[in-house]
Amino acid sequence: MHYFQEKDGELWAEDLKVKDLAEKHGTPLYIYSASTLLRHYQAYDSAFKDIPHLTCFSAKCNSNLSVLELFKNQGAGVDIVSGGELYKALKAGIDPSKIVFSGVGKQEFELEQALDADILMFNVESRQELHQLNHVAENKGKTARISLRINPDVDPQTHPYISTGLQKNKFGINMDQAIDIYKEAMQMKGLEPIGIDCHIGSQLTKVSPILDALERLKQLYQDLKEIGINISHLDIGGGLGITYEEEDPPHPSELGKALTDSLQGYPLTLILEPGRVIAGNAGIMVTKSLFVKQTELKNFVVVDAAMNDLIRPSLYGAYHRIAEVVPQGRDERKLDIVGPICETGDFLAQDRKMPGIEPGEYLAVFSSGAYSLAMASQYNSRPRPPEVLVDGSTDRVIRRRETYHDLAGPEENI
Ligand SMILES: *Cc1c(COP(=O)(O)O)cnc(C)c1O
Repeated sequence: MHYFQEKDGELWAEDLKVKDLAEKHGTPLYIYSASTLLRHYQAYDSAFKDIPHLTCFSAKCNSNLSVLELFKNQGAGVDIVSGGELYKALKAGIDPSKIVFSGVGKQEFELEQALDADILMFNVESRQELHQLNHVAENKGKTARISLRINPDVDPQTHPYISTGLQKNKFGINMDQAIDIYKEAMQMKGLEPIGIDCHIGSQLTKVSPILDALERLKQLYQDLKEIGINISHLDIGGGLGITYEEEDPPHPSELGKALTDSLQGYPLTLILEPGRVIAGNAGIMVTKSLFVKQTELKNFVVVDAAMNDLIRPSLYGAYHRIAEVVPQGRDERKLDIVGPICETGDFLAQDRKMPGIEPGEYLAVFSSGAYSLAMASQYNSRPRPPEVLVDGSTDRVIRRRETYHDLAGPEENI
C-alpha cells in the first residue's frame, strides 16, 4: 500500500496534488511519501517483533539524508556498502552500533573509517578481506566485530544481475570454506567473529529461497558451535521484492513468520537489510512530455527525464508503471516513452499500451523510491533532479536540483 493514489481525476502524493508539486518544483522530479516510507518500515520491522532483531535499512537503494533520518527516528540501523554511505549514515544520525558494512570490495580507508566509527559489524566477503581488516584493526589497536558473508548457493529466482547467492556470483564465501575461515578469524587479534551473514539477491518474489539459505546458515551455526565458536548474530540480508507490474511478492509478515518459526530456540539476534521493499513504492518520478513523434513503426513520447535520471529500464529492462498525472482519457495505443539522451537505450518504457499523451502533460513513473535517484548520473551533462518529501499536506525539498555549477565545479580551477 502506498500513498500515491488517484482522487478527483488526478494523482495525489498523500494530501498534495502531484501536478501542483511538478509546477512548484519543476520536472524531472522525485517525490517520496513519508507516510509510505514509515508504513513500509513498520510493516517490515514489526514482522520480526517476536525475536531479537535489528532492521538495517539498505542505504544503497536510497541514501538521501532525510530519508535515513526518518528511519533513524524509528530506531533503525543501516546497511552500508561504502565509506560514502558510512559518511551519510553518520551524518543522518544513525547510531554506529546499528551499522553493518557489506560489500565485496571494501578498501583500507573505508575499513579505517568504519573502525573509527565503531560500527556493529563488518560482513567479510573473502579471506583476503579478512586479513586486510585484521591488519587495519591491529594497527589501530582495535577489534573489529565480523561476520562472514556466506554464499549459500541457492537460486533466488530473480533477474541475473541482482541474484547474488549463487556459486557463480562474486559475493560471499563458499559454504565449504566457511569453517576454516572462521577458525582462521578466531586466531586473529584484530577480529571478533560474532555473526553469520548472507544476502542472496534482490526483488525476490518468494520466501522459500531465503528459508533455504537460512537452513544452511543454521547448519553452519551448529557446526561452529561444536568446535567452540559461538555466534550471536545472524544476518539474513534483504531482498524482498515489490510489485512493479504484476509480481505478487510475499508480505513482510509472511517472511517474518517463516523466519521467526525457523529460529525458535536459537539464541541469535537476527539482522535484516531491507531496501527496495521499504523505499521502492514510496517514491515516484514525475516527468513532462516534450514532444510526440510518430514514425511508421513507433509512437514516441519524448519526455524531460532520461536514463541518467532513472536507469533501471535501460539497465535491467525493468518495468515501471507509468501513468498520466491528470488522466485525459484518450484512446489507448502503444507508446515508447523516451528521454532526450543520445542513446537508443534511453527509454522509460517500450511498446507500452496506455492512453495517448500530448506535449506538456505530466507523467508519473511509479516505484521510483529505490535504486532510482540513487543510481542517477549526470550523463549528457544533465543536472540530477531534486527530491521532495511529502508528509501529509506538507512538501519539503530534501535534495535540491543540481545546477550547471554542480556539473562544472569539480573540473574548474585545477
Ligand atoms: C543491496 C543489498 C541489500 C538490499 O537489497 P534489497 O533488495 O533492496 O532489499 C541488502 N544487503 C546487501 C548486502 C545488499 O547488497
